[in-house]
Parts: sequence; structure tokens; C-alpha cells
Amino acid sequence: MSPRAPRVYSTRAIVLGQREFVEAAKVITILTPDVGKQDSVAKGVLKPKSRLAGHLEPGTYCDLELAVAKNLDIIREAQTISRFRASQQNLMQLTTLIYVLELVDKYTVDGTGSDLFEPLLVTLERLDRGINLSAVVHGFELTILEITGFRPSLDQCIHCLSSVDSVKANWSQDGGGIVCERCVSVIPDTSLIEPRVLKVLRAYQSWPYEESARIAIDSNLEAQLSRVMHGLMKAFAERDIKSADLLEEISWRNELSNGRGMS
Ligand SMILES: [Zn+2]
Repeated sequence: MSPRAPRVYSTRAIVLGQREFVEAAKVITILTPDVGKQDSVAKGVLKPKSRLAGHLEPGTYCDLELAVAKNLDIIREAQTISRFRASQQNLMQLTTLIYVLELVDKYTVDGTGSDLFEPLLVTLERLDRGINLSAVVHGFELTILEITGFRPSLDQCIHCLSSVDSVKANWSQDGGGIVCERCVSVIPDTSLIEPRVLKVLRAYQSWPYEESARIAIDSNLEAQLSRVMHGLMKAFAERDIKSADLLEEISWRNELSNGRGMS
């Protein structure tokens, strides 16, 4: 009796990461629209003539055919839909790409995150255009927090729920939002948040991308936005996000292309 043929299925996927496995195989972590995050095995990818290898680099958007296996499903076919080439060729874009992939990985466990697939895909496409990076990356951070149930409170005080004017707001990273003047004495570890930082974050959280991307962002403002958002992303993920530090380092040395068409 011959063994039963394995069940095979096709899916679109975004490759989040990969790691070495037994022999010439690798474990490929993918995000799919139906399952969310899952680990799968690509056999023979370390061999020179592998037809899979070129399609499974982190950040690749691809069509996959997988065979169901007892533990990890096995990738049988892979075809690249987009490799986001422009992002691969610019250090700032590439580091941002790695950062958004790491965020998705840190904010999901196996079998969750299917609702992050389309937002991630849109983010990779916008990132590849290389403009308005501030709105692209911080908008995506806020989307992840929203979808995973950590929506930061940017309009109401996290303690008394009163609406807070951006001029008088304090910031609580661990509380995930702003604190009004009356409540600041009862919430530990608050700091002042600059009105313009809060205003931009509110826009990134609630405006459509096409509008928020038109806000002009200078490098000083971007540094503050990054500090607030990276702090929040690390605090809620409850672990370190390595590429966030790298991103901050690089952004100090690179001129960000933001607010194109605006002074
Ligand atoms: Zn309050």
C-alpha cells in the first residue's frame, strides 16, 4: 500500500523571517491572510540550485504551495509576487522594513495575526515608495496596537477619561496614553509630551493615510515621534525590539523624506 498523498494548499504569504534547520533546510516564518503567523519548512534551500531560495527572503510577498505535515507544513513551491526592491536598496527603508517585520513577529503568536496581513502588505508597498516614512511606520505601529487590543489613548486621560488638550498633556508609556493635569499626581512615571508630537500622533491614529502623510515632519519632530512610539511598542510587546534601536541610530544620520510637497 502506498502512503497517502499529503494534503496540499496554496496561499499568499509575506515572509517574516527564517532560521537554519536540519541539513539544508530552513524554517521560514510566514504571515498569511487565513492562518496568520506560522512556521513552515523549506527543504534544500541552502543547496546552490534550490528553486525556492530566492523567493523566501524576509520581506518577500509570495505565492506558496504547502504540504500539510505532522509538525511544520512543507513549502513545495514558491513564487515571488514582489520583493520590494526599492526598500532593499536604501538603508533607511531596509531598516524600516526589518523593523515592521519584527513588530509583526513580536506582536503575534503562531496562528494569530491574519488581520495584520493586509495592513502589512499596504505598509510594505508604501515603504517601497520611499516617501512619508514617518506616517507609514508610525501609522503601522498604531494599527498593530489597535488590532492587538493595545490602542493608545491619545484623546482622553487614561485615568479619568476626560478629554485632554494637547497643550497640557502628560504621557504615560506604561499606561499607554495621555494623563490630564489633575491625574498626573496619581499616575507614576509620566513625562510631558510636546503638543506637536501629540497632534501628529492623533493624526496618524485617526486620519486616513493620504491625509496624515501630508503633514510636514522635520528630523527633530521625527526623533520625538520615534522615541514615543518605540517606547510604546517595546512596553506592550514586553520585550526588546532590536531593530527599533538600529532605526533610531540610522535616522539620526539620514535625512528623512517626509511631507513631500510641503514646506
Ligand atoms: Zn485625568
